[in-house]
Amino acid sequence: MNGEYARLREVLQNRRTELQARLDNIKKDVTQKANADWSEQAQERENDEVMDALGNETVNELQQIYKALERMDDDEYGICTGCGGEVPLARLQVMPYAGLCVNCAEAQGQ
Ligand SMILES: [Zn+2]
Repeated sequence: MNGEYARLREVLQNRRTELQARLDNIKKDVTQKANADWSEQAQERENDEVMDALGNETVNELQQIYKALERMDDDEYGICTGCGGEVPLARLQVMPYAGLCVNCAEAQGQ
């Protein structure tokens, strides 16, 4: 693994830690709301939807990060999971968990 990939691994690991902490906070918040009385819950329903969306987004990104770290362990990081071509370093620097090259990502509408 080259030096730049090692640096990206650190970026991914730091991001993973950050997202997990955020997810823990969201879970805590949801648990507290479940204990609130029903009138409060009605008022906070809108907030819940925002929190759900935030939670889903966080879970999605976490899953991508886990997959990227797995690909690093398997020495498959930087190889497009769509076509087997190279994912350019410039793309990985912007999106370290990218598993697809630009062409494949566009083809899949991502
Ligand atoms: Zn590709």
